[in-house]
Amino acid sequence: MDISVVVPLYNEEESIAELHEWIKRVMDLNHFTYEVIFVNDGSTDHSWDEIERLSQTHPEVHGIKFRRNYGKSPALYHGFEKAQGDVVITMDADLQDSPDEIPELYKMIKEEGYDLVSGYKMNRRQGDPLSKTIPTKLFNATTRMVSGIHNLHDFNCGLKAYRRDVVKHIEVYGEMHRFIPYLAKNAGFSKIGEKPVHHQARQHGVSKFMGWNRFVNGYLDLISLWFIDSFGMKPMHIFGFIGTLMFIAGFIAIVCVGASKLIDLHNNTPHALVTESPYFYISLTTMILGTQLFVAGFLGDLISRNSPERNKYQVEKEV
Ligand code: UDP
Ligand code: MG
Repeated sequence: MDISVVVPLYNEEESIAELHEWIKRVMDLNHFTYEVIFVNDGSTDHSWDEIERLSQTHPEVHGIKFRRNYGKSPALYHGFEKAQGDVVITMDADLQDSPDEIPELYKMIKEEGYDLVSGYKMNRRQGDPLSKTIPTKLFNATTRMVSGIHNLHDFNCGLKAYRRDVVKHIEVYGEMHRFIPYLAKNAGFSKIGEKPVHHQARQHGVSKFMGWNRFVNGYLDLISLWFIDSFGMKPMHIFGFIGTLMFIAGFIAIVCVGASKLIDLHNNTPHALVTESPYFYISLTTMILGTQLFVAGFLGDLISRNSPERNKYQVEKEV
């Protein structure tokens, strides 16, 4: 099979039939063998009835129905598990992403050797308010910097294409769908590209991602991804390092405080109590914090040593 199209959806009943129609038109025109996997993420409208209806008349249509709403990432995760095509394409169900991009995306993966191609919504001005586009710009700039994937403008575009290997070797969880290129890079898939795609305003229904908390959550997710990538397997290297530095600084400070007191005593010059020096408290704090960080690193190491993931590496080939 050439292509699996994975469509996560939550309350998109008005769009499903039209989207399927459009995908089918493009696939037939280009003679692709394909499947469409609709993942119904706990919709409360008639989305599932639509999917069932389609699957009865079209054998290439598959559906997965969650019992409740889990989020876009879990929906993608299940779609990825089921996908069988050589190239896996994800797109939103709301008709904002155009299936007309599929042939070009497929070509980039198959012929140009990309592991992952992300869509870049260039003409997103229509429909999106500034309160959405400005934070998005900032968000993408930070993600580019942290992830080291400098050639992507738009990490969070729903339209993406993957070599099948990629989706079978990454684990999209929580709200990590915003960082799939970063996940792929961490798993060792480094040829990541971008394609400017046509993007239109939502036709039916409302956006499922509103408000500012998504940016806060996005940043927190980015920090934990970065941390797992950098120190996930060796937490002692960061905690132990900072802890040791702090402890040494504190130790030096306390030695200075003590020494100056002894010198004063020896010279019979007037001397204050050790506890009256601010350095005493600074050193006390840094030494305690340093010890705590060190212990945190040690505990982190113990945990990662016992984790079932500790020896999970990505092996590409064996002969
Ligand atoms: N979606 C989902 N589960 C959710 C929220 C959204 O499967 O909990 C789907 C949604 O139905 C759509 C896609 O994710 O197909 C992108 O959502 P939306 O279009 O609302 O996001 P926006 O384009 O506004 O960023
Ligand atoms: Mg949308």
